[in-house]
Amino acid sequence: MSPTNGEKQLIPPDLLEILVCPLGKAPLRLEGETLVCTKCGLVYKIEDGIPNLLIEEAALPAGVSELKQLACYGEGSP
Ligand SMILES: [Zn+2]
Repeated sequence: MSPTNGEKQLIPPDLLEILVCPLGKAPLRLEGETLVCTKCGLVYKIEDGIPNLLIEEAALPAGVSELKQLACYGEGSP
């Protein structure tokens, strides 16, 4: 493997594929330097190339003030 210049790959595509929102198990999409849940819109930070999927540290989407309002809420647990 040779080092690649230019484009900075934050998250390898194969890793991104298996990452899901811990709340509702929905897929995530890469948006800038964050991961955004395609279902509930929670914004997860990527720190040093490692996705931080802690719900407590994720940013709530606009218009949402608590986790209960999220589309993913309650989906992951019975
Ligand atoms: Zn979600």
